Amino acid sequence: MKQRPFILDPLFRSINILPGIGPSSQKRIEKLIGGGKILDLLFHAPVDFIDRRFTPQIADAPNNRIATLQIKVEKHIPNSRKSLPYRVKVIDDSGSMDLVFFHAKSPWIEKSLPLGETRIISGKVEYFHGKAQMVHPDFIGSVEEKADIQTIEPIYPLTQGITNKVLRKAMLSALKLTSAFPEWLDTAHLTKTKWPDWKTAIHKLHNPESEKDLDLLAAQRSRLAYDELLANQITIALIRRNQIMVSGRSFKPSVNLHNLIVKNLPFELTGAQKRSLKEINEDMASNRRMLRLLQGDVGSGKTIVACLAAMNAIENGAQAAILAPTEILARQHAESMREWLQAASVRYVILTGRDKGKKRETLVSQIKNGAAQLIIGTHAIFQDDIKYHDLGLAIIDEQHRFGVHQRMSLSGKGEKADILVMTATPIPRTLSLTNYGDLEISKLDEKPPGRKPVETLLIPKEKIEDLISGLKRKIDEGNRVYWVCPLVEESEVMDIEAAEERYDVLKSIFPNRTGLVHGRMKAEEKEAVMQKFSNGDLDILVATTVIEVGVNVPEATIMVIEHAERFGLSQLHQLRGRVGRGADQSYCFLLYAGPLGETAKERLSIMRDTEDGFIIAEKDLELRGSGDILGTKQSGEAHFKIADLAVHRDLLATAHNDARLLIEKDPNLTSERGEKIKTLLYMFERDQAIKYLKSG
Ligand code: ADP
Ligand code: MG
Repeated sequence: MKQRPFILDPLFRSINILPGIGPSSQKRIEKLIGGGKILDLLFHAPVDFIDRRFTPQIADAPNNRIATLQIKVEKHIPNSRKSLPYRVKVIDDSGSMDLVFFHAKSPWIEKSLPLGETRIISGKVEYFHGKAQMVHPDFIGSVEEKADIQTIEPIYPLTQGITNKVLRKAMLSALKLTSAFPEWLDTAHLTKTKWPDWKTAIHKLHNPESEKDLDLLAAQRSRLAYDELLANQITIALIRRNQIMVSGRSFKPSVNLHNLIVKNLPFELTGAQKRSLKEINEDMASNRRMLRLLQGDVGSGKTIVACLAAMNAIENGAQAAILAPTEILARQHAESMREWLQAASVRYVILTGRDKGKKRETLVSQIKNGAAQLIIGTHAIFQDDIKYHDLGLAIIDEQHRFGVHQRMSLSGKGEKADILVMTATPIPRTLSLTNYGDLEISKLDEKPPGRKPVETLLIPKEKIEDLISGLKRKIDEGNRVYWVCPLVEESEVMDIEAAEERYDVLKSIFPNRTGLVHGRMKAEEKEAVMQKFSNGDLDILVATTVIEVGVNVPEATIMVIEHAERFGLSQLHQLRGRVGRGADQSYCFLLYAGPLGETAKERLSIMRDTEDGFIIAEKDLELRGSGDILGTKQSGEAHFKIADLAVHRDLLATAHNDARLLIEKDPNLTSERGEKIKTLLYMFERDQAIKYLKSG
């Protein structure tokens, strides 16, 4: 089955075939639901409901409650003045009430509520001066439509220009297109969990009958989430299996180059660095391909480990490449490694998007003819026209910006090249399973010795002047300060204005000692300023979040973050990691603007109370939901439609085991269950995983 099963076709049709969806609403809805297929719509779950099953008589309808009533239209009372409402008096055996319409067109009212006719209305009954009325009924219909109106109406997350009515109508038609699928879940598992089949689950999802049904852990919801997680885990298991099947090359661990470098280091490698390097060496020496994640908090010393790993490839005559997410970071890597590489006489080049023309040509040919042993750069080093002489190891830094797909395409540059990914984002286990399940993990869980914990203080914005005079003293004592300015999500321009304003203020207090960097500056300008800060020509570096990645200035001991309440936890953690790198006591001042909401309060106190990146990442996940901790939005990965990692962690663990066992027993999905699983993979568009199956 190398084609999507026909049974899925109706769900893969465009939502524009559904009633009530025109070209403009189609666009809005697609944006809302994150896709244009009927299936995307079906995965758009309700968040609330209105119970319209209550059908009292007028006299028995209580104040402020939603009711569905059968009434007779008694009298129209058009508005005598524009500012007054149009009223329609309606009655039943028990009494009468007014339907009230503001700014409504009278022809429409006359047509919907013809005099003397019986109608079904639904909406909130309210008492006004002791008399029942209903302002703008939600529904007005004929007696035949009663059953349709008198239901529970699910409420969906909406977007501008799309009403719940429109969405619900489309949803009901979409539900009609669903059919029963061959069951891909394990029978024993289904029996144990009492989960419904897919079709029942999706129908129940959209027809909640009680609060319980809205719970993310309700049976139908869990089942659908499990499907999604299982598809994710099977994909990862297949990719991993495929990678391992590709035999790699075997690099004997470097001894000569390794010793030349280590002998000259001003420090001793930490236990964690030695252990990680040993794991890497073993992987590279084996004839399987290495796929390893080096995970270490900011400042844990990943660079030297990467450099020593590169020596394994280079000493065996192959090339190594280091891919950084930004120009600055690429150059900083080169800068940190320069002395080490010189000690070992390794020839390296730096290639970024900035290199053009002749310069680029030279670099490209050095990569091609092998003159360059180590290639450091941005995406530019993996462009189509770059040919490697013999790439043996690809190191990818700040991995969270890349996805599994990109990882795969990189390795295309060196057919059997080993891959080492480095990340500073402490990845909670839940996320590492969904995004990195295909990688082995080495952890740098021990910081280089002699670092004092950073002292973190929360300071209300009003106290900023006290803070500045305190800084004055610190600067006189020789400390250097990062000053990070507010993050204004919607607008980079506003970010920069805020940073410029702060820069002006600080510059007037610390003339000639203050610098500014922001995202709109040219890379050279940015570097020049950072270089000055790093040399000690500047004491204060005002920045937007551009300093988040990169820059290592051990003399910087103070980090000020303005409007800290606007930053994500992981981001704050990364920023704080810029200080506390030297032996002196460091401080992080989190300036906030009150009043703070509960979540903001909790976030800031976590920052104050811990420096442990793992705890922070777990809390972040809890507070934000699965969100985009990993910046997965950019890479388009592990963005779940129905599963919510903050809630469905246990399901993920089960799906992980389920997938592993399945792929171990049935690597090409040819068993009876395997065949059904393929439908599941297609449902979640894991076509790329299906490519790995041998046709059988
Ligand atoms: P990161 O993991 O954030 O990339 P770096 O590799 O930039 O961390 O290391 C941070 C700093 O710690 C650098 O100045 C580096 O030279 C230093 N460092 C690395 N390993 C050790 C060690 N074992 N002992 C002391 N300092 C170290
Ligand atoms: Mg680093």
